[in-house]
Amino acid sequence: MRKKIVAGNWKCNTTVQEGVELAKAVNELVAKADAKNVVVVLGTPFTHITSVVSAVDASLINVAAQNCAAEAKGAFTGEVSAAMVKSTGATHVILGHSERREYYGETSEILNKKVALALANGLTPIYCCGEALSIREANEQNAYVKTQLEETIFNLSVEDFSKLSIAYEPIWAIGTGVTASTAQAQEMLAYIRGLIADKFGKAVAEETSILYGGSCNAKNAPELFSQPDIDGGLIGGASLKAEDFLGIITAY
Ligand code: PEP
Repeated sequence: MRKKIVAGNWKCNTTVQEGVELAKAVNELVAKADAKNVVVVLGTPFTHITSVVSAVDASLINVAAQNCAAEAKGAFTGEVSAAMVKSTGATHVILGHSERREYYGETSEILNKKVALALANGLTPIYCCGEALSIREANEQNAYVKTQLEETIFNLSVEDFSKLSIAYEPIWAIGTGVTASTAQAQEMLAYIRGLIADKFGKAVAEETSILYGGSCNAKNAPELFSQPDIDGGLIGGASLKAEDFLGIITAY
């Protein structure tokens, strides 16, 4: 059975000390809530990972980086490689977030390198895709997301593809308070699962965790997560408060 995953994306928020406090609070709540059927991931800034890994119970909380370098090592000032991320104790890495695509020019070519390095270093990518509002308004979201996948993770071997999770995040829903309707989210995730089945086979599609992201909160999560193809969420704003994040984790 595919995993249910609730992953927080803290983005560029919190100091190390604040992040450790937040992680400890999430850990405590998750321990009490007995949410063992959900894989909980905290996507922290690079600077926080080692401290957060030390502060949480690894059997309850996984830690993710929000990015990694497209090169293995060398003269790339300011970059953090997948091997470095792995050495912190992180288990996951968020790749292809729309903010990185938009503000840092991450193309499919760059993302292919990042995904390959993440996998080679034993990290689980949470690979993001999703369309802008203009594309949704033109009703071209399916073709757009299909291309995003075909140019990147659909080029992986079936073995490598089976190691990652996907997060569908319509850009118009990220940080806007406008959530995709349950029907819109389910429709897209079912569509993505169908594409995976066509490419890698039905068994692989059934095992791939596909998350929804975009203004997901404790209020709308129960309905979103009740859908057959929604295997959890990638959570921005609501992951910055332990109680709010727990409300999403326990939405199943
Ligand atoms: C995100 O950035 O991945 C995200 C889903 O943000 P928010 O939940 O704040 O919309």
